[in-house]
Amino acid sequence: MAVATRPTEKTRFFKSSPRALLINGKSEQAESGKTFDTLNPATATVLASVAEGDAHDIDRAVRAARRAFENGPWSRMTPSERGQIMHRIGDLIMEHADELAELDCLDNGKALSVARAADVPLAADLFWYMAGWATKLNGGTITPSVPYLPGAEFHAYTLREPVGVVGQIIPWNFPLLMAAWKLGPALATGCTVVLKPAEQTPLSALRLGELMLEAGLPDGVVNVVTGFGETAGAALASHPGVDKIAFTGSTEVGRLIATAATGNLKKVSLELGGKSPNIIFSDADIDAAVAGAAQGIFFNQGEVCCAGSRLFVQQDRFDEVVEGVAKAAKQIKVGPGMDPDSDMGPLVSREQFDRVTGYLAKGQQAGNRALAGGHALDRPGYFVEPTVLVDVEPNDVVLREEIFGPVIVALPFSDVDDLARQANDTVYGLAAGVWTQDISKAHKLAKRIKAGTVWVNTYNVFSAELPFGGFKQSGWGREMGEEVLSSYLETKSVIVQL
Ligand code: ADP
Repeated sequence: MAVATRPTEKTRFFKSSPRALLINGKSEQAESGKTFDTLNPATATVLASVAEGDAHDIDRAVRAARRAFENGPWSRMTPSERGQIMHRIGDLIMEHADELAELDCLDNGKALSVARAADVPLAADLFWYMAGWATKLNGGTITPSVPYLPGAEFHAYTLREPVGVVGQIIPWNFPLLMAAWKLGPALATGCTVVLKPAEQTPLSALRLGELMLEAGLPDGVVNVVTGFGETAGAALASHPGVDKIAFTGSTEVGRLIATAATGNLKKVSLELGGKSPNIIFSDADIDAAVAGAAQGIFFNQGEVCCAGSRLFVQQDRFDEVVEGVAKAAKQIKVGPGMDPDSDMGPLVSREQFDRVTGYLAKGQQAGNRALAGGHALDRPGYFVEPTVLVDVEPNDVVLREEIFGPVIVALPFSDVDDLARQANDTVYGLAAGVWTQDISKAHKLAKRIKAGTVWVNTYNVFSAELPFGGFKQSGWGREMGEEVLSSYLETKSVIVQL
C-alpha cells in the first residue's frame, strides 16, 4: 500500500511548498499572510499548505479581472485567438493528465483510475468544446415594426457581449472538472474570472491556473483565490465589482449566494443539490439496471450532486434488484484512491464523514435496514462502506435529505402513476434514471419527471454538449452545452434609422 499510494515526482514537487494565490498572472501570498492546510482524506494527514485568501485578496483579484476585461489584450483578441488559447488549455490538461489526476486523487480522495478516466478527459473536452463556441456567438438582424413612426425604415441587429467580470465558486467533489465547467463558457464568451475553489480541494485549480498561463491566457483573465467559503466565497458573492456569480455546491449555500448577489443585482447561476430517483421497471434488463443503480450511487463515493440516491423498483422485482445492488456494493473495494486496487476512496473530509455517518445512525434509529454496509470502516481516513437501505418510510430523513455519500435508499412502486408521484416528491430536480425495455414508456416518463437530466438505460453520462442543471431547488440555469453561454452573455439591440 505504501508504494501504491506514493505520488509521483511531479506531484510531490507541486505540493512541496505553500501554494500561493494566482492574481493578475502572478503568484501572490494572501495579504494577511495566512495559510491553511489541505488534508489527504485517505490518511487524515496534511497534504499541502495553501494561501488563505480573504475579502482583501478577493478585491485585488476582482480589480485585476476588471482591468483585464476592460483594457487587457483579452478584450482585443479575435474570437479565433481566444478559441485557440482555450484549445491549448485542453491540450495541456491532457499532457498533464497524470499529474492533475493525482492531485485530485490526493486532495479529494477519489480513486486515481476514476480521476484519470473521467475527471481529466472531461475537463479537457469541455475546453475543446467551448473553444469552438468562441467563434460562433453571433447576434441576428431584425426588422422592427414601430407603429408610432409610420414610414420610418430601420436596420436593427443584436450583439452578444460578455457579461463582464465573473465570480465562480466551486465544490470539492470534482475539483478540476468543476473548474473546467465554470471557466470554459466564461472564456468562450470573453469574460474574465475570479475562481474560488473549495477549501478542501484547492490544488488542481491552482495547477490549472499555471497551465492556463502557459497556454497563453493573458494576465488577470483567470484569477484563482483559495480560501474559505464564509470569508473569500462570501466576499466574492457580494462584491459590487462582479457582474455575475456562478456557484456549484449545496442548496443551503446557494441560497446565501443568491441573497449576497442582490446588492448589485449581479446575475446568478446555481447548480445545487439533488435526491435523484433511479427507476427500475420489471421489464428492464435487470442485470444492466442493477449495475447502473450501483454505479449511479457509488461512483465518486456518492459525492455527486446527481447521484441516483433514491432507488425505485417495481414491486415484483424489488427483492431481486435490491439484493443485486447489495451484492454489487459488497464487491466494491474501498481504499486509498492512490491504491490501484481501490474502486472507491474515502469521503473528502471529517465534516463529510460525520455528516454521512450521522445519516446512517439516523436511518438505523428510524428502523431502516442495511442490506449492505451501514458503517464507517475501522481505519484511519474518512472511509464509509457502500450502503443499501430498505424498509424506508416516506418521511424518513434518509429518503428526503441529500446525504452526499455512498448510501442508496430503495423503495418499491406499483405502477407508473404511483412511481411518478413518488419520484417527483422531493424539493430537488437535478436528474433521474429510467430502466425499461419499453421505449415508449421511457419517453413518456422522461416528460413527467421534473429533473434537468433524464438518463434512460444508463446513468451518470456527462458530455460537454449536453446542458446540465436543475429544476426546483436544484438550481438556476444550466451548465455546459450551448445553453450555458447565454448566462455569460448580455444581448444588446442596436437600432439604426435609415
Ligand atoms: P459542502 O457543504 O458540501 O462543503 P458547500 O456548498 O458548503 O459544500 O461549498 C461549496 C463551495 O461554496 C465551496 O467553495 C465553499 O467554500 C463555498 N462556500 C461555502 N459557504 C459559502 C458562503 N457563505 N458564501 C460563498 N461561498 C461559500
